[in-house]
Amino acid sequence: MIGACTAYFLARRGIDVIVIERTEVAAAASSKAGGFLALDWCAGTPLDELARRSFQLHAALPDEIAGDWGYQRMTAYSGFVVGDRDARRHTPAQLAWLASGIIIADRLGTPETTAIVHPRKFTSAIMSAAQKHGAELRAGQVTGIVWSADRSMVRGVEVGGALLEADAVVVAMGPWSLMAAAWLDLPAVFGQRSPSLVYDTGTDVPADALFLEYQEESGAIVSVEVFPRGDGSTHITAFSNEAPLPLEPAAVTPDPSEIDRLEAISGEALAELIAEGVSPTMDLTPFDPGRLRPLHPPLLRSD
Ligand SMILES: Cc1cc2nc3c(=O)[nH]c(=O)nc-3n(C[C@H](O)[C@H](O)[C@H](O)COP(=O)(O)OP(=O)(O)OC[C@H]3O[C@@H](n4cnc5c(N)ncnc54)[C@H](O)[C@@H]3O)c2cc1C
Repeated sequence: MIGACTAYFLARRGIDVIVIERTEVAAAASSKAGGFLALDWCAGTPLDELARRSFQLHAALPDEIAGDWGYQRMTAYSGFVVGDRDARRHTPAQLAWLASGIIIADRLGTPETTAIVHPRKFTSAIMSAAQKHGAELRAGQVTGIVWSADRSMVRGVEVGGALLEADAVVVAMGPWSLMAAAWLDLPAVFGQRSPSLVYDTGTDVPADALFLEYQEESGAIVSVEVFPRGDGSTHITAFSNEAPLPLEPAAVTPDPSEIDRLEAISGEALAELIAEGVSPTMDLTPFDPGRLRPLHPPLLRSD
């Protein structure tokens, strides 16, 4: 995503750009992210100006670039998953999600301040747009940066054992930029791993993002993020951790135990609940018959 966007804005200025990609465009986090965007969530930090500009650009890019990457404005809420474990035990498996409740605590963002994209489609569209402006995309693995003899100037990068000359080098290798930090004597960068689930929830899902807290049976409190997207998918992610990084981006695979853990937090339940709509500052207990009747009328009738 970072490499494709940099290539796009450079190529638009008429600058010659070559993007070297080891695996494929959007091979890593840039295809697996939630794609959530916020205008002012970096307020008070050095990132604030960048975040605001990025938010504006995301709003403008659909008018500039061909393709549909599901850009849409959203409302964002925080809240708590307050599952009733006894109820869960006594609920038929197919209705297990009804045994979890969600309490919405606060509204975090409005359509003026929060939005979403489908990250893989966005990255691919931006890379294609960069190519239309003359950028070149090459398959290859960068294995080093090549310097002038006195190390005062960069000469290019090493790809497949050969020098690819360049006036400037942009390192946009995500967590693998750690290797470039060694080549460049820069501080180390780190990545975090998060499992995510993507559900097909249909395009009628309201554009409401949820940032929820959930207490697991162990007592641990975890944060769960739920992002319905414009293409009819709902992305759910939780707990991030640090894990050894495989050298090959394609070798980053889900940890089955983490996926099971995430599924256990009523991930599907949340997606279905979202499919019915989320109201601000409302206690959305799943046993509210008025709220859930349209989904399962015979089961939720209060009489
Ligand atoms: C589950 C999850 C949810 C997230 N949700 C959000 C969100 O909602 N909103 C948000 O803003 N951010 C989110 N993020 C973070 C966001 O995904 C990342 O910050 C972003 O995608 C990083 O993009 P990148 O271009 O820096 O790196 P990457 O996407 O990691 O891309 C790096 C690229 O470099 C290539 N590469 C690596 N080594 C080499 C080499 N030696 N030579 C050539 N190519 C190489 C890789 O193949 C890869 O294509 C999320 C991340 C995760 C994991």
